[in-house]
Amino acid sequence: RELVVSFGEMLIDFVPTVAGVSLAEAPAFVKAPGGAPANVAIAVARLGGAAAFVGKLGDDEFGRMLAGILRDNGVDAGGVVFDSGARTALAFVTLRADGEREFMFYRNPSADMLLTADELKVDVIKRAAVFHYGSISLIAEPCRTAHLHAMKVAKEAGALLSYDPNLREALWPSLEEARTKILSIWDQADIVKVSEVELEFLTGINSVEDDVAMKLWRPTFKLMLITLGDQGCKYYTKDFRGAVPSYKVQQVDTTGAGDAFIGSLLRKIVQDPSALQDKTKLEGAIKFANACGAITATKKGAIPSLPKEDEVLRLMEKA
Ligand code: ATP
Repeated sequence: RELVVSFGEMLIDFVPTVAGVSLAEAPAFVKAPGGAPANVAIAVARLGGAAAFVGKLGDDEFGRMLAGILRDNGVDAGGVVFDSGARTALAFVTLRADGEREFMFYRNPSADMLLTADELKVDVIKRAAVFHYGSISLIAEPCRTAHLHAMKVAKEAGALLSYDPNLREALWPSLEEARTKILSIWDQADIVKVSEVELEFLTGINSVEDDVAMKLWRPTFKLMLITLGDQGCKYYTKDFRGAVPSYKVQQVDTTGAGDAFIGSLLRKIVQDPSALQDKTKLEGAIKFANACGAITATKKGAIPSLPKEDEVLRLMEKA
């Protein structure tokens, strides 16, 4: 059983055709399919792994296009349902000249937010070795209840639960609610991944020292990861911990780097779950995941940048 099932949103980012402009200044936009959970499923499939996506899309041109992208990339789209009354989510995203990312979301509500527990394709979820999710699906009902139910089904079927909150502040009614709801399912995960920014958001402390990271640790966790961009990541298990540097690359656009990282790590874990108890094996898997994140950061966009295994191995051999 090696299937990674990823749950949540898939949407289209509209990104400016030129770099370093505000949304208002952008002369034109191109479509960039994304949504972190969908990116993770494609990251797994791109490496030759079994992956499925569970979520809801609008029964519109964009929704059908996104389902086609999943299938074209070898992801099982049997868990996708379509809403005839709501549109596929859109987001306008830009990286401004000042380095700040600017988001404008069209979700009022979008189809992904309207997934109900009854609509869940539980047969897909029950086949998961790992069930992966974020926090955007926790923001609004009925999707929140569907998300919680999906986690329960996955856990009861024996899957490991993997959580990457992927904080998007603008989507929450308030930062306090974001923090509370993101942490409301914290204890249920087996594997948790947060970025430096999310670590600070959740702990209120701007530091990646172990004592700060440990505030997010739970005794039931099997693995916790703090990603550090070009610095690689830190990891924690019950019995051992460490830091694994990344590979030196020419950074162009980090969109999807975190998704490539966690997707590739989950791929390694389902292939050999004993890596969770073995420091050498785990660090080997994390090195591979760092290389996947690094490669994704060298190209524009998320999905087109996700690497195949041979590309990853070449970067690792070169280093
Ligand atoms: P995202 O930016 O997708 O929301 P994130 O903040 O979790 O995700 P990053 O920390 O940017 O992700 O990247 C994830 C991993 O990818 C890092 O831990 C690192 O291994 C690798 N990575 C990202 N950017 C670079 C880079 N410029 N050079 C080398 N490795 C990188």
